[in-house]
Amino acid sequence: MPKPKKKKSSWAPERGEEAMVGGIMEGSPDAVGVAVIRLDCGCRKMAAVDKNGDPASEIIMYRAKAESICDRCKKDNGAFHRVTEQFIAWGTPRPPAPDRERIIAKVLGTTSSASH
Ligand SMILES: [Zn+2]
Repeated sequence: MPKPKKKKSSWAPERGEEAMVGGIMEGSPDAVGVAVIRLDCGCRKMAAVDKNGDPASEIIMYRAKAESICDRCKKDNGAFHRVTEQFIAWGTPRPPAPDRERIIAKVLGTTSSASH
């Protein structure tokens, strides 16, 4: 099978995120992807999701280049209104598109990138 061409996507995991995603995937055999939630303070929330869009791991919070998450996150646990970006980093093989859309809708509560 030919490798899919790299499409310009609306998101790309940063290097630190990729490492975290890899670690979470490894520790979550049922996971098909990892939900990545970026907060306005720079902290990240991540959780593995299974093929049904259910959580496949605990929610993990971390802050790049820091030993712990910031004080704000400690207080509000990464409140939803501070989310700047959210997406799912899919494992390989990626689930089929209809599954991905279903999972995104369930996990992120939005349809994937609004169709214009
Ligand atoms: Zn924070």
